[in-house]
Amino acid sequence: MAGRAMSVGVMTGTDLSGDCPRFGVSIMISRMSDPPRWWAFRRAQSRKPATYTCPFCGERLHAMSEHVVLAPEGDVSKRRHAHTECVLTERRAGRLRAEDEVR
Ligand SMILES: [Zn+2]
Repeated sequence: MAGRAMSVGVMTGTDLSGDCPRFGVSIMISRMSDPPRWWAFRRAQSRKPATYTCPFCGERLHAMSEHVVLAPEGDVSKRRHAHTECVLTERRAGRLRAEDEVR
């Protein structure tokens, strides 16, 4: 059956954030054929008036507040913005490993 255009959605801007409230890291991982073994973390704080959705708690996160950016195996194209507190909780639970912890 040809001719039916698939809508794949158009992304505006570069941040995959804001309007997908339940698109969490666990969903992201389950969609990957090869789940990330480790995550790159960095502290982030921006002057953009953007709002992200934390992948762990599903709550809003303002870019202007201090938070953490996670990138699976350092892949910044798949980065996620999360609350610092939520990342620390995940880390304590052993669910997010840093690069130097898997070697
Ligand atoms: Zn959170």
